[in-house]
Amino acid sequence: MNAPLKDPAHEPSAAEFLQQLDAQITPAAQAAPKHWFDEVPSTFTGAQRAHTTILHAGLTMAHDLFIQSAFRGLGYKVQAMEVPDNDALQYGREFGNRGQCNPTYFTVGNLVKHLKALQEGGMSKEDIINNYIFATAGSCGPCRFGTYVTEYRKALRDAGFEGFRVILFQQAGGIKQATGQEMGLKIDAQFFLTMVRAILLGDVLNALMYRIRPYELEPGRTDAVIHNAKQRLARAFETRSGFIKALWQTRKEIAAIPVDYLRVKPKVAIIGEFWAMTTEGDGNYKMHRFLEQEGAEVDIQLVVNWGLYLLWGAQYDLAERAKLKGVDKGINKGAAESGGSKFALEGVNVAKKRWMLKGAEYFMRGVFYTYAKILGLKDYHLPDMNFIAQISHAFYDNNLRGGEGHMEVGKLIHNVVDQKVNMTLSIKPFGCMPSSSVSDGVQSLITELYPAAIFLPIETNGDGAVNVYSRVQMQLFKAKQMAQRQQEETLEQLGITPETLKTWVAQHPEVTRASHRSPHVGACNALDTLHYLANCQQKSWLARTSEALTTSWGKAARHKAHAIAAVERAAQDFKNRKHTAASAVKFVEVS
Ligand code: SF4
Repeated sequence: MNAPLKDPAHEPSAAEFLQQLDAQITPAAQAAPKHWFDEVPSTFTGAQRAHTTILHAGLTMAHDLFIQSAFRGLGYKVQAMEVPDNDALQYGREFGNRGQCNPTYFTVGNLVKHLKALQEGGMSKEDIINNYIFATAGSCGPCRFGTYVTEYRKALRDAGFEGFRVILFQQAGGIKQATGQEMGLKIDAQFFLTMVRAILLGDVLNALMYRIRPYELEPGRTDAVIHNAKQRLARAFETRSGFIKALWQTRKEIAAIPVDYLRVKPKVAIIGEFWAMTTEGDGNYKMHRFLEQEGAEVDIQLVVNWGLYLLWGAQYDLAERAKLKGVDKGINKGAAESGGSKFALEGVNVAKKRWMLKGAEYFMRGVFYTYAKILGLKDYHLPDMNFIAQISHAFYDNNLRGGEGHMEVGKLIHNVVDQKVNMTLSIKPFGCMPSSSVSDGVQSLITELYPAAIFLPIETNGDGAVNVYSRVQMQLFKAKQMAQRQQEETLEQLGITPETLKTWVAQHPEVTRASHRSPHVGACNALDTLHYLANCQQKSWLARTSEALTTSWGKAARHKAHAIAAVERAAQDFKNRKHTAASAVKFVEVS
């Protein structure tokens, strides 16, 4: 035991006091430092596969269901958990670290909630730990996404599930090396193919649902059709049979939903942080449903966009790093442990790598458009990531990563310059680093440059739903007015009366079918349908088809070039103004 600092017999001098202090501190300082080490329970071997249930969640209900079924079809025991709700958030707050971003609390809490429910259902802690595993996507950051897995472990430990296994897809390859046994979850070509198919089918089905539901004439019909479609397709995935038949049946049922595409509904794009804009639960106050109830059509962001962004990033980085010609391999060569940058391309066939990345992109787009074609999702364009990068670079450097990087800014600009939607709603979670800087900072500059844009950033933290809803309603009111005004002006310009419109619809019953899509003219679907009907009166089917075929490619390329030039001009104007303002301030200071 250490000597007391103060001897009650006499008052020590300052020198004696320091000596006593040294005597106390030195033994502790001299002890060998013991670093904190986080156990990483993640072993999942082939022998454990038969009795281990892989839990997963995190995307939309359709995606989670298809992933579950597709992997069951490969012989895994998989279970999709519920969409995280406010109860999950409370578990996350109770067992998670302080200061995390909101998706961490929701997703980590959701896992703890699920395991607690298993325990309350009579399963022992040992059985849960031995027979369940949680699989999730991982990343090395740079935002908090890189620390999610550590958060899961911390919360599980504190909730009494010490040793529960959490595996990242990117880690699974290391399991074989660590144990020398066959991997429980094989990360191979079949894994990726299965994942891509499940995700892209979920995307196409969701895109159809959000396009059709606001215009259905029989309330609840779209939900019923989509519900049946999900069950049918999930069965086909699981049994690995009858997939094409299930797709075809779904196409027929969707096409038979009666709709009125002439209803004026403002189109609202939901953008923002990936999880917050994707989830369909309390994590974003069930915003998709709320907007539809308030009379809007929701333009959702598909999960494939995220995949395309990652592939764009890999291609961009490859091109940049290739300029170094491998010299980064020699960085810090003197240091014993240094082999230079692990990303160095010395000895790597760059052209081959480039084509592999391009091939992966074409594959993803190809699978998406194939499902879209079969299910009747017409005229849906996946984003051109080079275009998104170009229009956003002047405001948000393409080299900055984390969250959606420049993509969030690019989406807003794209929505405005191409009149894609009437309103853009950016959902960013409380505590999110990349989305906060984008939404609060750069996006306010974009709306200054494009004052016609109706843009609303909202922060989600699980509380204050009423407050958020009322802010959304205020902006939505403006969007509704805008859509209505544009429709009335067009009717007036073209001299169309309600009676004429009825006659045109009777002559062109295709516009009453859910699978119909009018070519894009303005932000709202009713405006597109109106132009389509007017065009049908003026031109024959042959003339319209040949016009569409001959102009679409060239027009799209010209349009993109104009948009990029316009954005660059706007950015330059802003820089000039800033420069002039800065000079004026200096002049005032000097004079
Ligand atoms: S993007 Fe934001 S909310 Fe998402 S993981 Fe990163 S910090 Fe969290």
